[in-house]
Amino acid sequence: MTPTGPSTDVTAGTKRDVLICGAGIAGPALAYWLHRAGCAVTVVEKAGSPRDGGYPIDVRGTATEVVRRMGILPQLREAHIDSRRCTFLDADGGTVASVVPRVVAGAVEGRDLEVRRGDLVAILHAVVRDDVEFLFGDSIDTLDQSERGVDVAFRSGRRRTFDLVVGADGMHSATRTSLFGPEERFHRPLGHCFAVFTMPNTFGLSHELVLWNTPGRAAALYAVGDDAELHALLAFHRPHPPVDALRDPGAQRDLVARVFAGAGWEVPGMVGALRDADDLFFDTAGQIRMPHWSSGRVALVGDAAYAPSFLTGQGSSLALVGAYMLAHALATNRDHTAAFAAYERGVRPFVAMNQALVDNGAATLLPLTARALERRNTLLRALDTMPTAPARPAYSALALPGSVPMP
Ligand SMILES: Cc1cc2nc3c(=O)[nH]c(=O)nc-3n(C[C@H](O)[C@H](O)[C@H](O)COP(=O)(O)OP(=O)(O)OC[C@H]3O[C@@H](n4cnc5c(N)ncnc54)[C@H](O)[C@@H]3O)c2cc1C
Repeated sequence: MTPTGPSTDVTAGTKRDVLICGAGIAGPALAYWLHRAGCAVTVVEKAGSPRDGGYPIDVRGTATEVVRRMGILPQLREAHIDSRRCTFLDADGGTVASVVPRVVAGAVEGRDLEVRRGDLVAILHAVVRDDVEFLFGDSIDTLDQSERGVDVAFRSGRRRTFDLVVGADGMHSATRTSLFGPEERFHRPLGHCFAVFTMPNTFGLSHELVLWNTPGRAAALYAVGDDAELHALLAFHRPHPPVDALRDPGAQRDLVARVFAGAGWEVPGMVGALRDADDLFFDTAGQIRMPHWSSGRVALVGDAAYAPSFLTGQGSSLALVGAYMLAHALATNRDHTAAFAAYERGVRPFVAMNQALVDNGAATLLPLTARALERRNTLLRALDTMPTAPARPAYSALALPGSVPMP
């Protein structure tokens, strides 16, 4: 590694022109750090504006240091969801255990954050929007790499050449597909599907999560404050991905209704609300595992390269840490090949540790058999009386290098 300070590429002294595909979590975070490192940054996002919606997400361990260095910790603390209880229910809605949420998540009180995904996306966008070019409502059509750079044809018809391109376009990354081949090669399915959406809070829930389980099925209501709406989750075991439903929201609603037919507690009302929801997010639970995260002048960051799945609760933290490490590597290596190698070396062990949390998450959120469910419930009853739990080492397993050098 050759520390160089300013971020230059093949032609020393000129600004690197970087295109980032995706304005979720990893994209704007990377844009922030690359701009600071002296790059000219463009972000292309297929949605017309930063995308709201989704279940609350966690920022923990090393990722909290990334957001502190970005100067957005105060806004995130303001947006922090202070959940007080997590109550687990049996098939009939009877209480199995009611615990402090951080005991289940292994989070650290006063340090780790949980925020609405839309709040994090909006805060990240706000911190870079004046310094970075955003192209909303567009996406990459073709990428053509040469010695000189990457020629990009956008769907809108515009054509531009960049020194580097980074795919931050999520789990189903088109950048990854165009560069490395079909998703099936890298997608490790976990055998579950999930639907998240918002619905009216007619349950009187406040600052709490309620989770209902039967073997292979989970339904959760998450009241992140005293809001009139709450986040609903319906998750279920499905060994083979429902390929057709993945592209068709109507089929997704039908599938969920079939799977949860006859379920107790508030589940029938949730299935009804799912029919009316206009913010449904449906996907299979899976991880992305790749032997390499870059090819030539194009690299991947966040879920596109190493989605850990919602069962780890670490998707956003890996995206934030990965973005920081990639920017740091580019700012300290004149040669992009060396930078991409340094990024991978630095982040891969952290990714592996966090992806490995998935079995634990599945055992807590979605036990598949009556025996596994009973085992989980016995553990929860023991946690009931615990005020705290040790933080998960994986969350903080990477010590960030010094700040990304400015030019
Ligand atoms: C609307 C939405 C809701 C979500 N809800 C949940 C949830 O409830 N639970 C959970 O665990 N995770 C959820 N996720 C995923 C979660 O945000 C990520 O795991 C994590 O934050 C990693 O962030 P990322 O930036 O790598 O990917 P993402 O947050 O997925 O961001 C990727 C961005 O790239 C954009 N994009 C995709 N394809 C293209 C393209 N071809 N061209 C241009 N732009 C493109 C997307 O619109 C998105 O803005 C959701 C993601 C989205 C987009």
